[in-house]
Amino acid sequence: MEKRDLPDLTEITADAAVDRARHGWRAKCLQRLVRIDLPVPRSFAIPAATVSSIAAGHRLPVDQLHGVFVEGNGLVSVRPSAVKPDWGGPRTVLNVGINDQVHAQLAKRIGQDNADAIYLNFVQSYATNIARLDPEMFSQDGPDALAEALKLYQDEMEAPFPQDPVIQLAEVLRSMARAWDGPTARLLRQAKGAPADAPLGLVVQDMAPALGPGLCGSGTIQFIDSVTGTPRVTGRFRGQHHGGAIGAGAQTLYLNRDERGPSLEEASPELFGDLLRFGIAARERLREEMQIEFVITDGRISIIDATRVQRSSRASVRVAVALAREGIISTAEAIMRVEPRALTDLLHHQVDPRAPREVLARGINASPGAATGRIVFSASAAQAAAARDEACVLVRRETVPEDIRGMHASVAVLTERGGTTSHAAVIARGMGKPCIVGASGISIDSRARTIRAGGRVLNEGDEITIDGTSGEVLAGSAALLGPALDDSFNQLLDWADAESDMVVRANADTAEDARMALNFKAQGIGLCRTEHMFFDGERLPAMREMIFADTPEDRRLALERILPMQRQDFGELFEIMAGLPVTIRLFDPPLHEFLPHDREGLHELAQSLDLPLSDVTRRVDALSEFNPMLGMRGVRLGITVPEIYDMQARAIFEATIDSSRSGDPVVPEIMIPLVSAMREVELVQNRIDAVAAAVRNDRRVDFTYRLGVMVETPRAALRAGDIAAHCTFLSFGTNDLTQMTYGLSRDDAGRFMGTYVGQGVYAEDPFHILDEDGVGELLLTGVQRARSQNRKITISVCGEHGGNPESIAFCHAAGMNYVSCSPFRVPVARLAAAQATL
Ligand code: PEP
Ligand code: MG
Repeated sequence: MEKRDLPDLTEITADAAVDRARHGWRAKCLQRLVRIDLPVPRSFAIPAATVSSIAAGHRLPVDQLHGVFVEGNGLVSVRPSAVKPDWGGPRTVLNVGINDQVHAQLAKRIGQDNADAIYLNFVQSYATNIARLDPEMFSQDGPDALAEALKLYQDEMEAPFPQDPVIQLAEVLRSMARAWDGPTARLLRQAKGAPADAPLGLVVQDMAPALGPGLCGSGTIQFIDSVTGTPRVTGRFRGQHHGGAIGAGAQTLYLNRDERGPSLEEASPELFGDLLRFGIAARERLREEMQIEFVITDGRISIIDATRVQRSSRASVRVAVALAREGIISTAEAIMRVEPRALTDLLHHQVDPRAPREVLARGINASPGAATGRIVFSASAAQAAAARDEACVLVRRETVPEDIRGMHASVAVLTERGGTTSHAAVIARGMGKPCIVGASGISIDSRARTIRAGGRVLNEGDEITIDGTSGEVLAGSAALLGPALDDSFNQLLDWADAESDMVVRANADTAEDARMALNFKAQGIGLCRTEHMFFDGERLPAMREMIFADTPEDRRLALERILPMQRQDFGELFEIMAGLPVTIRLFDPPLHEFLPHDREGLHELAQSLDLPLSDVTRRVDALSEFNPMLGMRGVRLGITVPEIYDMQARAIFEATIDSSRSGDPVVPEIMIPLVSAMREVELVQNRIDAVAAAVRNDRRVDFTYRLGVMVETPRAALRAGDIAAHCTFLSFGTNDLTQMTYGLSRDDAGRFMGTYVGQGVYAEDPFHILDEDGVGELLLTGVQRARSQNRKITISVCGEHGGNPESIAFCHAAGMNYVSCSPFRVPVARLAAAQATL
């Protein structure tokens, strides 16, 4: 066949100038298939610039369009070719060029019925997609269907069905070019991350007939399982199927003989063998797992298209690792090919994407994974269910620190209120449990013990499934896929660590968290929130006694009861982390969080403290604040009630001595929360130094420690220069810093965040993805000012953003030494850190 280059249509040959930016991914992919000698029918690429001028009314010269049709093989297809496959595009139009004359010729070659089916299919598609006639009118079937459709077209359009292939093609091109500019197509592609004015190329390709004598049909083949990524030949072959035209003797076959049913492999082992060969060539040369679309015409294969196999997260990891191990791609490329977020799906159970789902409500996907359990409305009911070995889902309006044990006892958590950094969200992520917060579509009636959701009323004990990955609450139980921390997962992350120049630590409060952190290969603990240690059954009463103490001496006595427990907590962390750095943050929350607020709780407390109820109520009221998050918490509490930090410092130092004696030397890192002024650091530092001197003296052992500051207030970021002169490390607590920079309550923002993001006020939830423009500027300013005063200072982020891939890239660019995130996000962070480095 003679090759001709037409100005607006480039024939896709091995050496033609076809590129993805101008002609789209499909044209480029077809060229790659041509280059590896696969039997691709003659194809032309129309560049995006031409497509947009067609949309604006330009007509391609007739001689160019004529050049597309060759004698004896008069039919072509037109397919969209956007820059990326998932940007979509107008529907493919097949069999362009058929008219009465071609129809008559076809009838001789492939039989009257087959020719009729093809013509009818094109008339129907042209009438509805190009002439925009009512599809219902063009759904005819049966012996006279073709004649009826042609007549109906003529009646409706007041003109005969176009017989000139060139006019047909010009109209198809115009209609597809215009469809791309329509509002629906725009919205769909923007949802996939495409710019609104994304270009569209088109591909015009000779049709390989899939109807006729001998083995004819069309199909797809791929060589891996899309869900697991394991090698497996799957697909379908539809014999005597030509686009929408179905001929006599149509039959659908599996591809390989292992399936239960007739297969192409049995029907034609040679053709099946050819397809396998083509598949191997495509995989090696296109360096990707491809799904190949093919046509068989009387025993001859044409490869008409190929796309990257759609795959689950676990399949994407497995494929990337397999390709790198076989030397088809480099390990660096394997690292870059996996979305860091995808790893989260491998760490937890997931709802099987193939399973049916009845969605009752939607909320913020605060902690990924999926679990099914019976509804409970209180922490105590959750603990009772766990004691009966019954899986339960804790459903609360919002959670409070006292709910922690209930959260431990449940398989998943659902709250009506709250945002990405609300209590439930942070704790559930730390525990690796699925959690949905801010599900404002549910309404909880805790007295009646019911939830209204999705027009249904659910009772305590009813089963629901929490899909924390999607944020959907599902009715009943759902089929789940297990976690996949397999060899491919570990291999990919080991490669990532080898490339990465940014350390990943974990936020870990308990021994269990620390073990999990090590399991995910965190290189230390970047944040231990010590207050979580005080909710334990034994400690809460001592804590409350401390809060109610009348004199510093009483306070000291209450704290003395807590000291050995804290020492044991820290000792355990040091021993588990075996010499890796452990950053302990001093007590942070406001004290009222440790007090009961309902009458029953107050009554119990009065009894246990042996105080009159009125006294207890008065004290609790006195501690309540209008804005507790901006009140007496963090270092402000540390300075006002210094005995708490003294006790914690002593526990840390004593544990340091004990653990260093039995294992690797420990250099604890002590971090001060919520600092806003340099003088706060000096005051705390003086007291901690005094405690260190006392412990050295008591124990007659020397040790060192590192003092650091959490940068969580805008002022601390602005004054990072003078603060840095007093400490060895700074860690940006971007949860509070975001809250304070926006003046946006992290516990209440969930109420309007959806509306705000929906209306484009914020591009993203800033508690989820770091606000680079505002909070990010404070970070950059802080880093620069701190380093200018103290060149060797270690700087990190330990807010929730430390586990977010986009934010990690920002932290890397800002020159942070490490990020710290909850243990279950460590793998994501390791991969994101490597990608940021590469
Ligand atoms: C922060 O504010 O970013 C932080 C890590 O501390 P917390 O979430 O405990 O307030
Ligand atoms: Mg904080």
